[in-house]
Amino acid sequence: MTNLSPETLAAQAGGLIDAQTGAIVAPLHVATTYLRDPDNQYRKGYSYGRPDNATVRQVEGVMMQLEGAAAGLVVASGMTAATLAMLALPRPAHIIAPEVMYWGLRKWLKEDAGQYDIEASFVDTADAAAIRASLRPRMTRLIWLETPANPLWGIADIGEVAILARGAGALLGVDSTVATPVLTRPIELGADIVMHSATKYLNGHSDVVAGVLAFARRDAYFERVARARSMLGAILGPFEAALLLRGVRTLHVRVRHQCRSASAIAHHFAGDARVAAVLYPGLPSHPGHAIAARQMRGGFSGMLSLRVKGGEASAIATAARVKIWKRATSLGGVESLIEHRASIEGPDSPCPADLLRLSVGLEDVADLIGDLDQALR
Ligand code: PLP
Repeated sequence: MTNLSPETLAAQAGGLIDAQTGAIVAPLHVATTYLRDPDNQYRKGYSYGRPDNATVRQVEGVMMQLEGAAAGLVVASGMTAATLAMLALPRPAHIIAPEVMYWGLRKWLKEDAGQYDIEASFVDTADAAAIRASLRPRMTRLIWLETPANPLWGIADIGEVAILARGAGALLGVDSTVATPVLTRPIELGADIVMHSATKYLNGHSDVVAGVLAFARRDAYFERVARARSMLGAILGPFEAALLLRGVRTLHVRVRHQCRSASAIAHHFAGDARVAAVLYPGLPSHPGHAIAARQMRGGFSGMLSLRVKGGEASAIATAARVKIWKRATSLGGVESLIEHRASIEGPDSPCPADLLRLSVGLEDVADLIGDLDQALR
């Protein structure tokens, strides 16, 4: 089924049919251990539940097809995925990462990575010259991008940075959580590793914590990450993997709807006197719009931020007044979420104090706009 469109592959979970029963939903494999062959081998490929699991492999197969990847690993969370990818680098390792990025990973890079001989430089990854200036010969092992990046939705040019990374002998990793493979396929643009917090759009229902890594090559680096997953016991549980597989089946229809609604909300509030700025890559005023228009196919994501006039107190008061939007962290679920982002990111965050982050769900867009409108009063 490899020449079918990603939408078809996702809807049919890669075409998996259970050989024994004909079931069109793949069976859930919960076994932690497997019988040996009579001659002491494990020819079916499974021996124990920590290194591998058939339900996890099913999700990996679908994700590899969606990302155009040669290998894939499904792990316990997005943070597990990102940190395993970094811990598997030859060390000491220098990593170039975005100044504005998912705050949890930035915190790990700043506060924890040093003890593993990993040092990060934080640069504006929308600026190729800044990346080039930060490269350290034979030391920079990885350039890490997040695009669109939390919570200002800055856009990095994956193709341009891939050329830089290749020239420097570094890997290029992309946190593509917000874009999803529906909008961007980083491996086609030259990335070596694609990472997802599958907790977000891939699962899509706010009921599973999971992470995905997709690799351009099934090589020694991939083997090191796979070994780390096995040794550290970082594999996703089979129940969560089955839920994730179900979530991925509706990925395309969800993301397309969320993009349309986010765009309508962004355009609606763009000129609103109560709003200091609307941050959305789909708006021509956004600094990353031109690259996003080239790099993201079919939409600009379901995420946007509003900077509320009147500063932090006004932003928090607005978030307190919504009725339909849920005032909660995370993103990519069917229900719309609103969050005063600086409150969660802490004092060293580059997030402006007046910023509300919006994750657009599947509700009627007129209801969502109406609710924000009354909350901004
Ligand atoms: N990357 C992005 C862009 C995220 O938004 C998140 C979580 O919010 C993560 C990574 C971390 O994922 P998880 O919470 O699944 O560990």
